This record gives sequence, C-alpha cells and structure tokens, in this order.
Amino acid sequence: DSTILHIDGLSVEYHTRHGSARALNNITFSLAEQEIFGLVGESGSGKSTTAKTILQILPEAAEIEGGRILFKEEDLLTLDEKEINRDYRGNEISMVIQNPQNALNPVFTVKEQLLDVMKHNKGYQAMNKKQMTERAVEMLAEMGIAEAESRIGEYPHQFSGGMKQRVMLAMAFICNPSLLLADEPTTALDVTIEAQILQLLRNSVDKFNTSVLYITHDLSVIKEVTDRTAVMYAGNIVEIAPTEEIFSEPGHPYTRGLIRCIPGSSERDKILPTIPGRVASLTDLPPGCNFYDRCEHGQKVCQKKQPQLEQADDGHYVACFRYEYLSSEVKQQ
Ligand code: ATP
Ligand code: MG
Repeated sequence: DSTILHIDGLSVEYHTRHGSARALNNITFSLAEQEIFGLVGESGSGKSTTAKTILQILPEAAEIEGGRILFKEEDLLTLDEKEINRDYRGNEISMVIQNPQNALNPVFTVKEQLLDVMKHNKGYQAMNKKQMTERAVEMLAEMGIAEAESRIGEYPHQFSGGMKQRVMLAMAFICNPSLLLADEPTTALDVTIEAQILQLLRNSVDKFNTSVLYITHDLSVIKEVTDRTAVMYAGNIVEIAPTEEIFSEPGHPYTRGLIRCIPGSSERDKILPTIPGRVASLTDLPPGCNFYDRCEHGQKVCQKKQPQLEQADDGHYVACFRYEYLSSEVKQQ
C-alpha cells in the first residue's frame, strides 16, 4: 500500500465566546507516497486547521472531536506531545507557511536556525557542527541561494520575500521529511517569484521523495502543482478528484462555481473567484448541505440531510444529492 497519510473522519471545533465553530466536519482523504495533494477552498473553510491538526499545533481553543490521522499506519492522535515532537515535527513531517517572517526568528542568523532544526532531527545526530554547517550551506545552495556560504551568516531581514521562502524550504527539506505540509507558501509573493518557488518545490519533492499536502485558495496554483485535489467548503470536503478532472469535470456545484468564475484571460487572480452569497456560519450550521444557501440547484433533500462523499467516477468523489441530475444535464448539452 502506497498510502502515507490517511485522514479518517476528522472533526475539529473551536470553542469561542460565540459558541462552538465546527472548523472540520468529518473529513476523510489519503495521500499516496510522493503525491502532491491539493486542499483548496475559500478563507475559513478549514485548510490550515487540517494542517495544524496533523502536526498537533492547534491553539488552546481547538478541540479534536473525533477521527484518526494515520501516518505510515500510526494514529498520530494517540501519541503524546513528547512522541509527536521527537519523531514527527521536523523529522518525518515538516511545514512551510505563508509568512516566513512568522516562522523565521528575527534575532537569529539563518545558520543558527538551520542548525537548530538539524539538532532536532534524527538524521544529523552523528554529525559535528562543522559537518552540519557544510550540509546547511549545501542545502541553501540547492534551494537556489547564491553565495550560500556567506549568506548563511545573515539574519532573516537581510533576505527578500522569495529568498526567505527559499530558506524556509531549505529548513523543511533538510529534515528529509516524508511529508511536507505547505500552507499557502507562495501567497505573499509576486507572480514571477511564485513561479520560481513552485518550480523549486516540484524539483525538491522529486529529489527528496516527499509527499506534499499543498494548501491554497488559488486555483491556478492547484492546477500547476497538484496531482489530486480536495475542495473544501465550510469544514467539509465536497469533492476529491485527480486535478485535471476538477477542472474538466467539476462535479459539485461549489467546484463548478469556482471553475466558472476563473477569468478566461491570462490575467492572474490571486483571490478565489467569488460565488454569490456567504459561507454558512460555522457556529450555526444548517442541518442539511452547508452550501444550500448559495446553490442554484438545491432541493428539499439538501436542506434536510448532509450529503456524503460518493463515488462519481474512478477516484472522483462528490458530496452532492444533485450530482446525478447535474451530470446528466451536462451530457445532454
Ligand atoms: P484561510 O484561507 O483564511 O487561511 P483556512 O481555510 O485556512 O482559511 P482555518 O484557519 O482552518 O481556515 O479556519 C477554519 C475556521 O475555524 C474559520 O471559520 C475560523 O474562523 C475558525 N478558527 C480558526 N482558528 C481559530 C481560533 N484560534 N479560534 C476560533 N476560531 C478559529
Ligand atoms: Mg489558512
């Protein structure tokens, strides 16, 4: 079995003054070895919560209500903090996020931070400081940082945004992780730099045999880097398919809406295209389909029951009561 990560029926709530917000509602998906799996959805749909739950770096207010996170067949949710920290964070699993400012410490040099990561990593226990430094320089160079030998002694603020993200990728890949959680790593970058970073990510994934959970609200990035994609809406996964099929045969009305709204021009849109209406409040979810209020195809059943993911085609799953009707309508056109 080539499955590296299997998330099974995961639910997470944030307890706030205004009630409990169900950020993840019974989500299930798997990543194969060396796969780049996309998680796309608008702001607040639960993408970052998914990544934070895997590494168990959720804030106090969050509670895991149920489910399993099987990583190499071990349920991470049954491990204690010490085990997660020792074996997974910065070892088997690493993470890159949108703002390297928040992940890089301004008062330490890049070298100090890279070596810190390496000291925590099992692969470097036998190395001395000189060997670790050499490896760190090599890794920065591999990530496209010129004159890495001198630049490694610099502080984060001396690097541009794109360069900081290269440093972040160096810190992530120096762990030789089996799984990389990439949470909007290029969202803050301009388009040219973003393209370079995506290229670097793809090359590194091949080189280090890493699987990636790639989180973005940007469909053009999804199209460019991912093999398969899950579309999230208000804490639910509403569709999973090979990425080409998400674009060629979107099944869920939400996915269809997203695809339809992509501007036909080469004009690049950094925001997820807008569908009329608002996302249901997570503290007060309707009993039926969360998308009902914004859906053009809703019927009585959609108001009563939550649709579950069902197979629409080989490897293609859609959570919509109206899917059969919608797909036959497309065929008739
Ligand atoms: P974005 O694209 O804006 O990063 P996201 O898909 O990553 O969005 P999450 O950050 O996972 O979304 O948030 C999911 C839901 O959980 C949102 O409704 C959000 O308001 C809520 N939430 C997230 N963090 C907290 C928190 N610390 N306390 C309370 N609610 C939270
Ligand atoms: Mg997020």
